[in-house]
Amino acid sequence: MDSLKSIIRDIPDFPKEGIIFKDITPLLGNGAAFKQTIDTLRDRHQGKGIDAVVGVEARGFIFAATLAYALGAGTVMVRKPGKLPYKTHQKSYALEYGTDTLEIHQDALQSGQKILIVDDVLATGGTLAATVDLIQSHFKVEIVEIDFLMELDFLKGREKLNGLPVHSLIHY
Ligand code: AMP
Repeated sequence: MDSLKSIIRDIPDFPKEGIIFKDITPLLGNGAAFKQTIDTLRDRHQGKGIDAVVGVEARGFIFAATLAYALGAGTVMVRKPGKLPYKTHQKSYALEYGTDTLEIHQDALQSGQKILIVDDVLATGGTLAATVDLIQSHFKVEIVEIDFLMELDFLKGREKLNGLPVHSLIHY
């Protein structure tokens, strides 16, 4: 995992002053590193009967879809408002300034399914807490684990995730 860490790039003051943005594009652009990331997650979850991998817009889709393919599972998109064409469930959540909303198709998951939720970065946990709430409010599924490429430990985002199993490949 140290090799993965070494190719994630820090961009200071992006998208605003004081934020150190973790840029994963060098990892995504490196075939060996991207493969190692997905293979590690596949090995972790293979044989558990995962039915679907849920990804959160937008970088989460890259990991969710690729992992789903590797596991032979389906993939499900949680999107920003107005992007999904069919009937949706919605969840609004607080941001530092204002609110945001996430949506999922009403038929995206079926009762009894075992799912993973995947995203690139666990920061404050606000986005994933809203995603978990959205899913748990509307679907009787088992969230087997929430997986991240990286976790910013000092922001304590995992404390917002209802005690669900959380696993991150890289920690800062
Ligand atoms: P949060 O809701 O605070 O856990 O973060 C929401 C999303 O913002 C994450 O899924 C990341 O895609 C992105 N994000 C937050 N902080 C960073 C960061 N320092 N570097 C890169 N992406 C970030």
